[in-house]
Amino acid sequence: MHELAMADSIVTGVLEEIGRRGITRVLAVGLEVGELMDVVPDSLKFGFEVAVRGTELAGARLEITEVPLTAECPGCTQSFRVEKYLFVCPICGNRDINVLTGKELRVTFLEIDDDA
Ligand SMILES: [Zn+2]
Repeated sequence: MHELAMADSIVTGVLEEIGRRGITRVLAVGLEVGELMDVVPDSLKFGFEVAVRGTELAGARLEITEVPLTAECPGCTQSFRVEKYLFVCPICGNRDINVLTGKELRVTFLEIDDDA
């Protein structure tokens, strides 16, 4: 259940951000999560709900966008989707590939209540 610790650090980061910007009410938090982060979205949402209790983020929705795992082969310069964690180039069989996407864990947007 590393989602709970993850949710905690996301909430801490967002609270710092809204504190700096003087925001008092957030409706939703957008989050990009890479496939390689091995996150169960429902667990992360649950962790988020627990972590926001009693904070300015209470009641905010967490909107998760999952980013697929992709890589590029330096040998044949092909980029491709990595299926089933098989880190091998499907074109030339190279095992020394560079991960392009799939390691994301970042807040992409905050939906703010302008009336607050
Ligand atoms: Zn290749």
